[in-house]
Amino acid sequence: MSKVGAPRHDPVPIGEVARPPFVRLPDPSNLFAARAERFVALAQGHELAPYLRLLAGLSDAQNRIQDDIPDPELPTADFVARARDFGMPPLDRHRFTVDATYAATLDRFLRSAADVAMPDAARAALGRATAAGDAARDAMARAVLADSIPIEALAEHVYVAAALQVHFARLAARLEAATLVPVSDGACPVCGGPPVSTMVVGWHGAHGTRFCACALCGTLWNFVRIKCTLCGSTKGIGYQEIDGGAGTIKAETCDSCRGYVKVLHQHKDPDLDPIADDVATLGLDLLVRELGFRRGGVNPFLLGY
Ligand SMILES: [Zn+2]
Ligand SMILES: [Zn+2]
Repeated sequence: MSKVGAPRHDPVPIGEVARPPFVRLPDPSNLFAARAERFVALAQGHELAPYLRLLAGLSDAQNRIQDDIPDPELPTADFVARARDFGMPPLDRHRFTVDATYAATLDRFLRSAADVAMPDAARAALGRATAAGDAARDAMARAVLADSIPIEALAEHVYVAAALQVHFARLAARLEAATLVPVSDGACPVCGGPPVSTMVVGWHGAHGTRFCACALCGTLWNFVRIKCTLCGSTKGIGYQEIDGGAGTIKAETCDSCRGYVKVLHQHKDPDLDPIADDVATLGLDLLVRELGFRRGGVNPFLLGY
């Protein structure tokens, strides 16, 4: 069989022509508040209820601290234009350097997280993150952004990852969506990071199209369906779901790279959240891993699993 290129847009089996935007930038004034609510709803009767409630508390803290910190500063217009010309993300996570706004964000977040009910181990990790000096805090931020968190210190890095999400979402929200260009398959056009999961949306004018959700800055970017977000293959794509589930969340598996990323059918359930519902469907990860696929989505709240 000859190799065929990926179609630019999958046909949408409904009576409207879908014209999805390339990106939808995050709205940090709502992103974390909505996520906190979703975590609370998901915790009802869930076997991971205590952890989901802890994450609801941390998402709420991510929301609350924003009133209290200065606006983050974007790179210069020149820099953003040059990044665009070279097909580079304007807020490249690998070039991140700590500034006063991020330092304040982390500081406020750690203080705010102290008010969240949590088990002793999580509180001890929060204590270690809070006690860390500037150099150690910088090193933790770099480890999160390089996806190289030391296994023995996962818990304290969760707080740093949460603060980075707030910082990058606030930065991303200040960009012009129309100036963004694709950087590479499966990489966020704003920060260059991997998706946490993907969503088929029900937005007016874009119904049935898919978006990758950035694990760091919360940007959504359009990505065709039935194509691996990890290696770009359009062959050997399969779908797995938990028997007896709602049928709204599936793992898209790829025979080429043996990876998988979840697909959330938000057009069937508008409450689905790319981070919260990813954590709450850990059972699906365990199922797909048993079949020999490795997780491709990155979620700072699932690092221990
Ligand atoms: Zn991003
Ligand atoms: Zn693949």
